[in-house]
Amino acid sequence: MLYYNDMNRRFLLSSALLFAAGSAAAQAKTKVVATFSILADLVEQVGGERIELATLVGADTDAHAYQPKPADARTVADAQALVSNGLGFEGWIDRLAKAAPFKGRAIVASTGVPTITAGHSHGHGHSHGQGPDPHCWQDVAAARRYVDTIAKGLAAADPAGAALYRDRAAAYDARLAELDGWVRSEIGKVPASQRKAITGHDSFRYFSKAYGVQFQSPRGYNTSTEPSAKDVAALIRQVREQKIKALFVENMTNPGLVEQIARESGAVVGPRLYSDALSKPDGPAATYEKMMRHNVTALVQGMLKN
Ligand SMILES: [Zn+2]
Repeated sequence: MLYYNDMNRRFLLSSALLFAAGSAAAQAKTKVVATFSILADLVEQVGGERIELATLVGADTDAHAYQPKPADARTVADAQALVSNGLGFEGWIDRLAKAAPFKGRAIVASTGVPTITAGHSHGHGHSHGQGPDPHCWQDVAAARRYVDTIAKGLAAADPAGAALYRDRAAAYDARLAELDGWVRSEIGKVPASQRKAITGHDSFRYFSKAYGVQFQSPRGYNTSTEPSAKDVAALIRQVREQKIKALFVENMTNPGLVEQIARESGAVVGPRLYSDALSKPDGPAATYEKMMRHNVTALVQGMLKN
């Protein structure tokens, strides 16, 4: 009997402690908003259970062309930290933050990343003019800088969590370093002269610069959002002449043009590439790491046919 009571008391005591710890953790969660799915994964890797994360632009959705909803303003108004890519990627973010209003810590993930200047229209609904290309995350080295900036920003918004953010960021950074090496060794399997691919829009410049793959896009040719028939014809001629078989469509863009080029040049469109958004959780690119591995695997398979 005594034994039973003792056990019972210990059980009650430990559940009370667990309950107290659980509710304290729930109260302490730092509310963080990330603008789009790829960034949200990086933030999640750093923040883990310590943060309550909301994502404005979800899987398979184009963040360039996003139109904030009234609920987004409420989400942003409640947040202690707001993580955006910057470089004009989310053209709508400043207005949303002002209207909400957002009073927390703004973290611009691309801060400090050496940028590539885009000289022409991006092609899916906005123009970069002469500004920097915002798609830095396609170079894993840039994503590693994002992670460092996110960890420092979260620590500033929630100083009590600084050590946890730093440790998680360091562990994740080690995985990203390994990922970067893997990308290089995979691309290295393709002879240099065959490292060419066609994509629907030009969001792979950072990838191109970091890993030595030449990308061309029907929408990269001029400043209008739709390329002229002449430009498309020129690209088709080039695809035929150079026997490019690596043709791809991104997950958040209209596949029409690339399909036309494939049809008219005798190529077959490969698996979808994930450029500006992750896939849904059951898809092949549910995290940043999975996205890079999926894209590189598809690119290498396609380019080996060139
Ligand atoms: Zn884009």
